Amino acid sequence: MRNEGLGSWPARRARKTPHRTALIHHGTTVTYAELYERTTRLAHALRARGVRRGDRIAYLGPNHPSYLETLFAAGTLGAVFVPLNTRLAAPEIAYQLDDSGAKVLIHGPAHAGPPGSTDVRTHLEVGAAYEKALAGAPKVSVDETVTPDDTCIIMYTSGTTGRPKGAMLTHANLTWNALNVLVDTDLAADERALVSAPLFHTAGLNMLTLPVLLKGGTCVLAESFDPNATFDLIERHRITFMFGVPTMFDQVARHPRWADADLSSLRILHCGGSPVPTPLIATYQERGLTFLQGYGMTEAAPGALFLDAEHAAGKAGSAGVPHFFSDVRVVRPDLTPVDVGETGEVVVRGPHVMPGYWGLPEETAASFADGWFRTGDAARIDEDGYLFVVDRIKDMIISGGENIYPAEIEDLLLAHPDIVECAVIGVPDATWGEAPRAVVVAREGASVDPGEVLASLAGRLAKYKIPKSVVVADGLPRTASGKLLKARVRARYGSNP
Ligand code: ATP
Ligand code: MG
Repeated sequence: MRNEGLGSWPARRARKTPHRTALIHHGTTVTYAELYERTTRLAHALRARGVRRGDRIAYLGPNHPSYLETLFAAGTLGAVFVPLNTRLAAPEIAYQLDDSGAKVLIHGPAHAGPPGSTDVRTHLEVGAAYEKALAGAPKVSVDETVTPDDTCIIMYTSGTTGRPKGAMLTHANLTWNALNVLVDTDLAADERALVSAPLFHTAGLNMLTLPVLLKGGTCVLAESFDPNATFDLIERHRITFMFGVPTMFDQVARHPRWADADLSSLRILHCGGSPVPTPLIATYQERGLTFLQGYGMTEAAPGALFLDAEHAAGKAGSAGVPHFFSDVRVVRPDLTPVDVGETGEVVVRGPHVMPGYWGLPEETAASFADGWFRTGDAARIDEDGYLFVVDRIKDMIISGGENIYPAEIEDLLLAHPDIVECAVIGVPDATWGEAPRAVVVAREGASVDPGEVLASLAGRLAKYKIPKSVVVADGLPRTASGKLLKARVRARYGSNP
């Protein structure tokens, strides 16, 4: 019996660095030896409850040591880990439990057990019930063969462009992604990472936590992101490595403690998920802190492009070049590479790219061409090979034969002092086929005058890109992770009155 997957990591780490701290959560610390023992006991406890190879084990709760124990225990048994987004509504959670066919649900105390409609047969609440299950199970190593190509996780995409799809990530996918992080950042063995991004998202788990645990560092788990708590944790644990989306770093920099906090321990700041605004890069650079930046997607486990610290300022706005073990191209519809400056679709290939979506053979077939994963994102490439992500292709507007990417217009609208949120969509137009419309949300206490907004864009955008109409809205629909739900904006504001 051989375990060549993630499930073997705690055992391998316990062999090398048993006394080092793997996880910290409030006052609790878990060494690698303890992580191995607890993971093994949990695996036996799950097996005793009927879990077998290939079964799905769902987890619903905030960041906590049991999250990683469940992931590794599933990996030990050759079972599949299904992390669920805590911000979803009950019917959405029920859908993911049903869709994945989860047999077991492990959930935090603040979350209810499985809804009656699902097939979940066993559930375990983190706390007393979970600890009792571990205490009652043996700690002898689990005897199960797991190969690199077995599925390790079904991770749901964010659902920005439609219903979330379950990306099947194999042990190999996750291992290669972690190796890409180790090659491209100078992650050290004594790294102390702050994990305040949720573990149900690909970034928090795969870009931050797993690479640190592979290397033998320490992960400080925070239940949720809070700027004030972030300063406390950085100072208390002498945090060296953080990962977040730009808005998290922005909130930290705007906090009153920013001026006086001791940030001297910070070494690696990794920012991804959306483009990092240049002023944010500058604010951190004034503190001597440089961002590493990334672009990726759940399906690629997730890292595809990476911008290192050396190029953070010089190539601001770029998502970088491919990770070491990744191939990324920008292509035309016939898959031929674009020329410098030309916009095309980003396609990704590599050992970190998923084999397909769970239970969706047609979507899987449509997402791959010649072995390349079609991201649905538009980008251009510069003379040095750096990629600039433009927007999602689905959101592109075609007006009078010209392609318009809403993100370009949205960036300018967001620079308007009275606009806090906006979305640009296409509406039917008798002359041009489609024309851009801006839906904007005014800053609290301010009002927005559509005529003035349009005037502010004049001369800064080609005429055909200037919206033909501006609608003022109270708010915009977003996913649980804060991404704009363009399809809903289109459904609500996309027709002519
Ligand atoms: P769904 O696939 O369900 O519609 P989603 O694509 O938002 O949702 P994720 O896998 O979480 O789900 O997000 C990946 C997407 O996020 C990418 O395809 C891209 O559109 C966007 N993205 C990620 N990183 C960056 C970045 N650095 N710059 C611009 N966009 C980014
Ligand atoms: Mg997607």
